[in-house]
Amino acid sequence: MTGARTVRAPRGPTRTARSWSTEAALRMLRNNLDPEVAERPEDLVVYGGSGRAARDWASFDALVAELTGLAEDETLLVQSGKPVGVLRTHEWAPRVLIANSNLVGDWANWPEFRRLDALGLMMYGQMTAGSWIYIGTQGILQGTYETFAAVAEQRFGGSLAGTLTATAGLGGMGGAQPLAITMNGGAALVVECDPERAHRRVRHGYLDEVADDLDDAVRRAVAAKDARRARSVAVLGNAAEVLPELLRRGVPADVVTDQTSAHDPLAYLPRGIALADWADRARRDPEDFTARARESMAEHVEAMVGYLDAGAEVFDYGNALRGEALTGGCARAFDYPGFVPAYIRPLFCAGKGPFRWAALSGDPADIAATDRAVLEMFGDDDHLARWIRLAGEKVSFQGLPARICWLGYGERARAGQRFNEMVAAGEVAAPLVLGRDHLDCGSVASPYRETEAMADGSDAVADWPMLNALVNTASGATWVSLHHGGGVGMGRSLHAGQVTVADGTDLAARKLDRVLTNDPATGVLRHADAGYQRARQVARDGGLRVPL
Ligand code: NAD
Repeated sequence: MTGARTVRAPRGPTRTARSWSTEAALRMLRNNLDPEVAERPEDLVVYGGSGRAARDWASFDALVAELTGLAEDETLLVQSGKPVGVLRTHEWAPRVLIANSNLVGDWANWPEFRRLDALGLMMYGQMTAGSWIYIGTQGILQGTYETFAAVAEQRFGGSLAGTLTATAGLGGMGGAQPLAITMNGGAALVVECDPERAHRRVRHGYLDEVADDLDDAVRRAVAAKDARRARSVAVLGNAAEVLPELLRRGVPADVVTDQTSAHDPLAYLPRGIALADWADRARRDPEDFTARARESMAEHVEAMVGYLDAGAEVFDYGNALRGEALTGGCARAFDYPGFVPAYIRPLFCAGKGPFRWAALSGDPADIAATDRAVLEMFGDDDHLARWIRLAGEKVSFQGLPARICWLGYGERARAGQRFNEMVAAGEVAAPLVLGRDHLDCGSVASPYRETEAMADGSDAVADWPMLNALVNTASGATWVSLHHGGGVGMGRSLHAGQVTVADGTDLAARKLDRVLTNDPATGVLRHADAGYQRARQVARDGGLRVPL
């Protein structure tokens, strides 16, 4: 059967697939398309502009059928969201190998990708959309929380209380911004052009309120800043118009960033085009639309640079806005840094990154149990403990209950062992899946984001994500993916993912130990190789062998 329909992951301890490894893939594929999780499930779009879980509904049905029947010594191959073959492998091999959106260098651009997409030959996998480990906006929440915590630490004495952050974009990822800012004590003013997106964030508890108009929004946001109150306010409008207007009015923003879908010019609404005409205009004349979007992005970034000149903390939030604005004519677009070199790289050096897990039972009590286990294991880390407690209170689950928590080299393997023991002991009602974002320490080459301004200039070296995918395949991950273009768009990134199932068996314990040790190890090695002393220290302390 083809055609749009409502998809949800099955819950509970009974499976329809032949093993928990394949049941897990089946549930996580379906979970990515749960209407609570996906931004546009009817088009199979999960998040991040056009990031899909499967190429089309026929491919989705075939994936479900193949995963249901797959044996424990078989591996399903997925090429850009379409199942293309099943091969005989062995029990340590991944059950699914996924390659999404990869193009040969000279062809790695949006027009060529779109040509192939229109012919039905490819799909855009983003990062966790096409690799079936997207867990809703929470997935990005901790990364965003960590980033704003680092901003607070570096600039504002450890808290955002008394500061105002101006940003834009309330989509799947960007929607985490207001809550991450208020969790750090700050006030937020967020520009979003699509009312439905803004109201959805209020419904999910990520945003406090949507203002009536710009005057109202400024009044409420500045009042919160002045009262040192944690409060988030959205204003409906186009960021390319609103941000310059905020600057002109002298609205006192202390932090300025952006998370519109700028990585894809067709997913950024240019000034002068109505929301209702967006899809039609982009489809009818993508070249003209792209040129207009880039012009608008240039104006948007001009205003961000204006705030930089006025002394605000300004950073790019990993959506390639600067690159597009430069093409659109903003010469000073790269005057402000990306968030990874500014705040996140020291974490990557320690193998830290967006580790996450989901409860296949569908029971929130299972995540509460894992939260308690994390606090028992790592409770002496105040920052981490604060996150787990706040997440337990404030994060409403979308789809299968899940948790994200940035853990480093050594820590992830410990968590994996403990979680597998919990499954074995019946402390949780069904197996858990353990995975991560592709935005991790060793799994991505992305010169505008994760590997911007590497100490040795190796920003564009893409051998590392390939090694990462191969290492996880060799270590026993349940599914492994290798993608192109996630986060920052075509031609700008290569990245890999892994997900491993904790089903309580001894075999799973051994696989989890290997994968959750080796996966973050590639991040430590990558940063040690680039010359970061902290990574070299972590490698020495962790007994990692580094030949040169
Ligand atoms: P999304 O497509 O779900 O949401 C983008 C939002 O921006 C939409 O709600 C859209 O209406 C809004 N928008 C577009 N143009 C606008 C304009 N001119 N003015 C105001 N609002 C506008 O995308 P997402 O999943 O939220 O991701 C946002 C961006 O962040 C993407 O480029 C993505 O690649 C990037 N990203 C960053 C990180 C990170 O860690 N920093 C991680 C993942 C993704």
